[in-house]
Amino acid sequence: MEAFFCEQCPRKCRAVRTATAGEGFCSMPAGPVVARAAPHFWEEPVLSGTKGSGAVFFSGCVLQCCFCQNTEISAGGFGKTLTLEEFAACLEGLVRQGVHNLNLVTPTHFTHVIREVLARYKPAVPVVYNCGGYELPETLRTLEGMVDIYLPDLKYVDQDASARYSAAPDYFAVASKAILEMAKQVGSVQLGKDGLMKKGLIVRHLMLPGHTRDSIRVLEWIKAELPKGTYVSLMCQYTPCGRADRYPELSRKVTKREYDKVLDRLFALGLEHGFVQERASAAAKFIPAFDLTGVPGEDRERK
Ligand code: SF4
Repeated sequence: MEAFFCEQCPRKCRAVRTATAGEGFCSMPAGPVVARAAPHFWEEPVLSGTKGSGAVFFSGCVLQCCFCQNTEISAGGFGKTLTLEEFAACLEGLVRQGVHNLNLVTPTHFTHVIREVLARYKPAVPVVYNCGGYELPETLRTLEGMVDIYLPDLKYVDQDASARYSAAPDYFAVASKAILEMAKQVGSVQLGKDGLMKKGLIVRHLMLPGHTRDSIRVLEWIKAELPKGTYVSLMCQYTPCGRADRYPELSRKVTKREYDKVLDRLFALGLEHGFVQERASAAAKFIPAFDLTGVPGEDRERK
């Protein structure tokens, strides 16, 4: 894969990325780095179904949130650098396993690879773009027609919070434009006869302790700006992970009072399409083993 100066995410580092090394904020090379490619059963029910969502977990991240559950791969860099052919084989292998969709997890810094592979290989199942919301609309536009389901986070409205926890003071300004572009591309939600999502947008929001007001602002923006019927996935199972221990205000779980307040606002706004995670859900159970399962050339590959 040829080296290039990268400016495909809002960081616009213009860092050199060669086939095997990268110097930008995400530290990722040009070649896709994958930590796991396997059926995943902990996404929203319209994605996981009974056979699982075919999740490809990329290494690296353009956000580096201090509370990340997947620090091992998002910041630690664990994973295997693949060729385009190996990456395509990864996707084909998942489809052969009968997954309901191909779920590209944290794909932003590898959009150039995804675009190239999906231009040649049109999978028989929907493609899900599962991201942190910090995306450039112009990069998203290059994926139009290739992505069937967008699954972005909308993490914050508050600029101080996004600066402090994700080093991205412009997070909301950027993510809100990106999500509008996603909504424009995929239109309203389409479910199949099997009840699974074939096309559409699901906006995720993870409640943080002490940030109920910001969670409510997120929900209010969704209500005001996105088409009626947009799916919302409210996640309340926050557990301190990653570098969260350096932020005293993030060192606890969300309280029942905080949970109820945000949930009340969700229903009052009439955002009735979507999913709410129980506050008591254990965050750890949603984290798969990053052990190169399903990665071509690895012994752990499972058929
Ligand atoms: S994808 Fe990585 S290298 Fe490229 S602009 Fe974003 S952070 Fe920088």
